[in-house]
Amino acid sequence: MLDGVSFDVTGSPARIVFGRGARASTTGILRDLGIARALVLSTEAQKQAADAFACTLGKSCLGVFAGAVMHTPVTATEAALEIVRDQRVDGLVAFGGGSTIGLSKAIAWRTDLPQVALPTTYAGSEVTNILGQTADGRKTTLKSPKVIPEAVIYDPELTLSLPVGMSVTSGINAMAHAVEGLYARDRNPVSALMAAEGCRAMIDALPRILQSPSDVAARERAFVGSWLCGTVLGQVGMALHHKLCHLLGGLFDLPHADTHTVVLPHATAFNARAVPDLLKPIAEALGADLPGAALWDFARTLGAPIALRDLGMPEDGIDRAADEATADPYWNPAPLDRDAIATLIRAAWAGERPTA
Ligand code: NAD
Repeated sequence: MLDGVSFDVTGSPARIVFGRGARASTTGILRDLGIARALVLSTEAQKQAADAFACTLGKSCLGVFAGAVMHTPVTATEAALEIVRDQRVDGLVAFGGGSTIGLSKAIAWRTDLPQVALPTTYAGSEVTNILGQTADGRKTTLKSPKVIPEAVIYDPELTLSLPVGMSVTSGINAMAHAVEGLYARDRNPVSALMAAEGCRAMIDALPRILQSPSDVAARERAFVGSWLCGTVLGQVGMALHHKLCHLLGGLFDLPHADTHTVVLPHATAFNARAVPDLLKPIAEALGADLPGAALWDFARTLGAPIALRDLGMPEDGIDRAADEATADPYWNPAPLDRDAIATLIRAAWAGERPTA
């Protein structure tokens, strides 16, 4: 399956602690990292849960900063940095999804403070070296080992409160990292294994979560998938799918995980025509022949969004998005023809089932 024998891979140096109730190990991990004045980070929506968690950390925690917001605006980072300096914070504890972990990474990028992440969604940012930030309405992305959290605590009980709809779209967001990992130019034997197994775990877990949101075993399985898929994102380059999602999200202010969910079947189908063998693990895991169509069926069965128009994208944005996607493209296994991309975006906008 892998046609190359050379690769150059940097694994995530993070310590991973996984298990039900694993959040109880946070105090010991802070001690191991030499952190005595930790600041817990969260979104406003998760402040209550973060406050309760911070109380369990005793003297090693100074309090909670609940100012994390989607797409890591630099203004939020600057507000947090003021507290970090004033309170002489010596370590960060990110309690939340990609937005909170993004804030933690943004602070670490500027201060080199050690980070402990307790993810509460399946987005996977906690194991990547990627930081996306927004300033003056423009999102930029950087890669640096400095932003990788020193420790990640995957406690599936922390995801029990994640609403079912968000659990599904967050899980499919994770699968998108793995799908693109399967055909990444810089893939390696381990990333390919993690990508296939990460998808299998999500495909197994999400229907069970839909049926029973409080099923901790299903939440645990989804977190295994999230860790594997996120690790793939941290190791290899992404292609058309991620390019389209970043572009569409930025142009039309679309919700992150929902956009990934809608676009993934279409980007997969587009690339399946060029590299069908590399995408076979996805089709097989879904018990089908056509990976893009099978992902669309999977999303639909789970009640996830399937049309960009339902997320608020205007129809007259299709051409603009196609122009921009092909003006400055990421590497992709299939050539990016402008009209073919416009057709792809139109199909995703209308919610059509892909044919590959
Ligand atoms: P999020 O962190 O924005 O969370 C979405 C909402 O759900 C928030 O209101 C949050 O408070 C709430 N929430 C999260 N977990 C919850 C829980 N367990 N119970 C109840 N509510 C909960 O969503 P996300 O999809 O995890 O993160 C999206 C952001 O992460 C985007 O900015 C994206 O660009 C970034 N991201 C970055 C990387 C990376 O490698 N740098 C990878 C994936 C995503």
